[in-house]
Amino acid sequence: MTAGRVVITGGAAGIGLRLAERFAARGDRVAVCDADAAAVAAVAAAHPDWIAAPADVTDEAEMGAFLARVESDWGGADVVCANAGIGGPAGRIEDLDYDGWRACLDVSLNGAFLTCRWAARVMRAQGAGLILLTSSTAGLFGYPLRAPYAAAKWGIVGLTKTLAMELGPDGVRVNGLAPGAVEGPRMERVLAKEAAASGLPVEQVRQQYVKGVSLRSWVSADEVADMALFLASPAAAKISGQILAIDGHTETLVP
Ligand code: NAD
Repeated sequence: MTAGRVVITGGAAGIGLRLAERFAARGDRVAVCDADAAAVAAVAAAHPDWIAAPADVTDEAEMGAFLARVESDWGGADVVCANAGIGGPAGRIEDLDYDGWRACLDVSLNGAFLTCRWAARVMRAQGAGLILLTSSTAGLFGYPLRAPYAAAKWGIVGLTKTLAMELGPDGVRVNGLAPGAVEGPRMERVLAKEAAASGLPVEQVRQQYVKGVSLRSWVSADEVADMALFLASPAAAKISGQILAIDGHTETLVP
């Protein structure tokens, strides 16, 4: 089987990097972009066979250059992961400033637009492909103190469902990943932010998260990658327009 061509935004750290590593381990070709130029340089040094470019998902010129390179090197793409996202500010809505709201929506929702627009064009022409957008359990539940993030991630759900309908007749599948809390440095930053916003100790916020999950556990980036690899496999040929939660079954998101 020919190796797949996989594009991942926000691919120099966290879930995006794990996705890239797991697709590469499966034998796929991988292209990542990330706004963190130093992290991109480290990835490029560790994986000289990957395409790795510094590009901000909200910047049309940077994304245009990255995607043009992918298209010129590969002629298209089989899997495109619109993964980049930021958590944005935590706090009661009346305490949030507009700049923080806008920055969160800009990266975590608007940031998927340029990626999906390109993927739609090349995949429609191919008559095949998979677009995987990263939402969150924050896109499935109300999320007190995190209105910008929840709004962005519900927006990703709407984009996923809509693009699945637009592109399905041309053989392109579109699905969303909804990870729960993923163990790692990002969740530690989230806990610290939410503890400050709620006035609760960090450990109490952590315990409340775990108690809101039926399996009483967080997930790993590898478990998110397992779902992505399944969705990119022939076994998922008829799965489109779905938001797949990898979260141990969230019951509530109340910090
Ligand atoms: P992370 O912060 O560990 O990594 C995100 C990467 O995206 C970083 O390398 C960062 O530099 C990059 N990035 C940020 N803004 C960018 C931009 N404007 N353009 C390009 N790259 C940019 O985060 P993560 O946990 O790996 O999160 C990845 C995705 O998963 C995000 O969409 C996030 O909202 C979502 N998610 C994460 C969790 C979690 O618990 N970590 C849970 C649910 C959903």
